[in-house]
Amino acid sequence: MMLIGLLGGMSWESTAIYYRAMNVATRAALGGHHSARILMHSVDFEPIQHLQHEGKWGQCARILVDAAKSLKAGGASFLVIATNTMHKLADEIEEGSGLPVLHIADPTGEAIVRAGYKKVGLLATRFTMEERFYRHRLESRFHLDVAVPDEDERADIHRIIYDELCLGTVSEVSAARFRQVIDHMKWAGCDAVILGCTEISMLVSADTAALPVFDTTALHAQAAVALSLQGELLGLKT
Ligand code: GLU
Repeated sequence: MMLIGLLGGMSWESTAIYYRAMNVATRAALGGHHSARILMHSVDFEPIQHLQHEGKWGQCARILVDAAKSLKAGGASFLVIATNTMHKLADEIEEGSGLPVLHIADPTGEAIVRAGYKKVGLLATRFTMEERFYRHRLESRFHLDVAVPDEDERADIHRIIYDELCLGTVSEVSAARFRQVIDHMKWAGCDAVILGCTEISMLVSADTAALPVFDTTALHAQAAVALSLQGELLGLKT
């Protein structure tokens, strides 16, 4: 099994979900007492979330490149950046650390294409919904038509992510707001929605949403395990 380098802490609420999901997937694949080989660097999110909101992405990149280098030094074979938003810096982190990044949008795009959907709604932080780095990857590599919620909906989603989910707060009022946004995306012609922030699955479940949901956390964690196991099959460095 190749050693998974997990860049976590953004927020730790969702990193905990990754940790569990990667171990569950490994046990499902190999049985017995098998568990995932993971090396984690979990950052302090407080200064990072300030830097994000101040637009100081260069400073964020420096912190994450240093963390990723420590994973490389520890023997990790590839990187899992456990947040959608920080994939804005995926190229810098990959180049700076020398470790390949398993991009979160790729298993997500593949799953949507496999399911046969074309037009998808993206629920995420403002950075992920409004900037090009994430939507462009889904559009150019997977030929998806990616829609985002309206301005007031985006503001609520962003606030709920940072002020509630990243702090471990799960409220019925916010769950109802997400359901309302998903209803709106269905009305606007979307076939499915992407839970494009790693904490959203704490609030939105497939059985209460009006559209099929693609949870980036679960898909990314499963892809990491598949890559880790495939490396072994191919006889790559462990
Ligand atoms: N975990 C979130 C994401 O998937 C948001 C926190 C962050 O900015 O990293 O985008």
